Amino acid sequence: ATPTAIMVGTGKGAENGILFKGGQHLEKAHKIETIVFDKTGTITKGEPEVTDIINIADFSDEELLKYAAIVEKGSEHPLALAIMEYVKELEIKPEDPDAFEAIPGHGVRAEHNGEEILFGNQKLMNDNNIDISSLKEASHKLETEGKTAMLIAIDKELVGVIAVADTVKETSAQAIEELQEMGIETVMLTGDNERTAKAIAKEVGIERVVAEVLPEDKADQIKKLKEGDKVVAMVGDGINDAPALATADIGLAIGTGTDVAIEAADITLMRGDLISVATGIRLSKKTMKKIK
Ligand code: ADP
Ligand code: MG
Repeated sequence: ATPTAIMVGTGKGAENGILFKGGQHLEKAHKIETIVFDKTGTITKGEPEVTDIINIADFSDEELLKYAAIVEKGSEHPLALAIMEYVKELEIKPEDPDAFEAIPGHGVRAEHNGEEILFGNQKLMNDNNIDISSLKEASHKLETEGKTAMLIAIDKELVGVIAVADTVKETSAQAIEELQEMGIETVMLTGDNERTAKAIAKEVGIERVVAEVLPEDKADQIKKLKEGDKVVAMVGDGINDAPALATADIGLAIGTGTDVAIEAADITLMRGDLISVATGIRLSKKTMKKIK
């Protein structure tokens, strides 16, 4: 192996916005057999926007949104930011809750003026013994459209659904196609529900979906995929993805993602689009040919 070829290769990578933390990652990338992609912020832009409001409460949509904003105020989750942005446009000014709690992979909980607000997915409602049957079908329909449907309950009573949609990055489908043409298996890994995940996966041509994975279980999923000495790469952007990025044979972080993800990864993709993943692997192949 010539150090010169590695130097040239990492230099070429840098020119293309692909930053290898060390030459060994460039040497390994051509062996990748499976690539696991996080959904939000990796395949999609990670800027969800409110699209639908279903209100079954005896108060207005504004009131419903206000409840959602009160409970999301303390959260930094992209879903929370979507709610806050939406209420800001409507000039709804939510008060601070008296108590707030984030429940990773499920949603958020707050107490306000003696009321309990729960906002999140079906799992959150099930764990709190809240009957969701009246909005189940409507939520499933939204999810089939690729939207994330969040249920809201006040004092354990279901009052509505707020859905958000996140747009797929323009280049995601092309990137997936290029990787598949290279014989690489592509997988989507997400905490979001199965229906939403499958709809987005279909949009970009990914066939294998692992959904409803809790943040702490993402790394375990990578371990499973590595069974049988498979060389597995993971691409992600969030704090949630850091353990999975570290567990993968090669971790690739989106450059616009969180610092924690970038630190855990072996390669940083400065351009933020997934074409760079294919470019990086091609670069590794070329470099290794020169060495042999
Ligand atoms: P992702 O893999 O998309 O980052 P998370 O593990 O953060 O997913 O969240 C999984 C699911 O939990 C979300 O799709 C959503 O239904 C629910 N959830 C998590 N955080 C929030 C929040 N702040 N507000 C509402 N729902 C949330
Ligand atoms: Mg993400």
